[in-house]
Amino acid sequence: MRIERSRELFERAQRSLAGGVGAQVRSLALPHPVYFDRGEGSKLYDVDGNEYVDYLLAYGPLILGHCPPPVVEAVSEQLARGTAFGAPHETIVALAEKLVEIVPCYEMVRFNNSGSEAVQAVQRLARAFTGKSKIIKFEGHYHGWYDNIYVSHLPEALSMIGLPHAPWAVLGSPGQPESVLQDIVVLPWNDLEVVERTLKARAHEIAAIITEPIMSNCGVIPPNEGYLEGLRRLTAEHEVLLIFDEVITGLRVGLHSAQGHFGVTPDLSIIGKALGAGYPIISWGGRREIMALIAERQVVHAGTFNANPLCATAALATLTELARDDGAVYDRMTTLATRLKDGIAERAESHEIPVRLQGIGPFFGLSFRDPEVPITNFREALEEYPGRYPRFRLALLERGVHIFPSEKGLWYLSTAHTEQDIARTLDSVDGALAALEGG
Ligand code: PMP
Repeated sequence: MRIERSRELFERAQRSLAGGVGAQVRSLALPHPVYFDRGEGSKLYDVDGNEYVDYLLAYGPLILGHCPPPVVEAVSEQLARGTAFGAPHETIVALAEKLVEIVPCYEMVRFNNSGSEAVQAVQRLARAFTGKSKIIKFEGHYHGWYDNIYVSHLPEALSMIGLPHAPWAVLGSPGQPESVLQDIVVLPWNDLEVVERTLKARAHEIAAIITEPIMSNCGVIPPNEGYLEGLRRLTAEHEVLLIFDEVITGLRVGLHSAQGHFGVTPDLSIIGKALGAGYPIISWGGRREIMALIAERQVVHAGTFNANPLCATAALATLTELARDDGAVYDRMTTLATRLKDGIAERAESHEIPVRLQGIGPFFGLSFRDPEVPITNFREALEEYPGRYPRFRLALLERGVHIFPSEKGLWYLSTAHTEQDIARTLDSVDGALAALEGG
């Protein structure tokens, strides 16, 4: 594979673009980042003309693949009518109505342009509604990079994770004020007992529990049987709000998101990434009496680009595609994901390389470890970290398959992926595993 032009761009970029990339994780590719030129359907093309089947999908948003025609068409029309009004418009009303129909906990919504921003909004709202200040977050969970929540996530938490039932709250980056640790309580995930104990002792100071309903920033770790139901019961008993951060799982595991999939309805939730099919728009919302604080202008929520007509148009077109025939596209994506997972497992077995694959519906995680042993929490996920993943990822890139660069190892399917893509990918996986053998 020739990546000469990418190398030149990297050298040029480093002189003016910090690190040569737009976000930290993008610098992980070896020997240097690949620079892309365009995407179409399930494929990405780099500046040297190489074609890749794309399972990163821009870290999740591209649920309809690159440049999905219905979204491109709708957005093109809107482009000529205005991209930002700084004022309300009909599309955002229609979008809110549709989301309230689809997402179980939504009675009212608002919008932001990134998941990190939306997390700020729901935290502020939870604190205002309950009159309490602390938020429980779980070890290893990622809720964006902002100061008050970028705590105890990879990789900084790796070497400092404390006792199993008393993880430490660890700041993720130089520059975060120590004071944020006063308002964060970090607990291990998938352990109801520890939540019960904590709420019994400290519910008077805890505004909310924020959690991904499926832990998706460390592979794909499903909740234990009864765990989400337990969180729901305990938070209700203790007058603590339950927030589902569905930035990844929203509209990804199914049309009704993870809360619909598991039948557990939180008080507030963020539905993101997939909503705009690649345009920056994230929704958040929940119970009417909580959202009333926003509606009545008691709690401040602002943002120049919030709910702009361009992204709202993209989101409405996306929802129309996803909701057609009650979400039939999810069955198709799940079938392809299952075929891909099974194919990878077969090839791994034939190369005698242990590979664990676990996922729900159209996304899954891959890690190099005992295929029979489920991963149920962050610490277990770290056991083989980083293991063979970085070399595997590079070997796949060289064979025309683009996957998650970090050991989180997520694979996303889109409605644009085809049986041919899966067959071609499995050939590449075979070659990449062969390249790993003996290593
Ligand atoms: N929450 C979760 C669960 C996420 O996975 C992410 C991003 N991967 C965020 C929040 C932050 O979203 P953004 O990158 O759009 O700020």
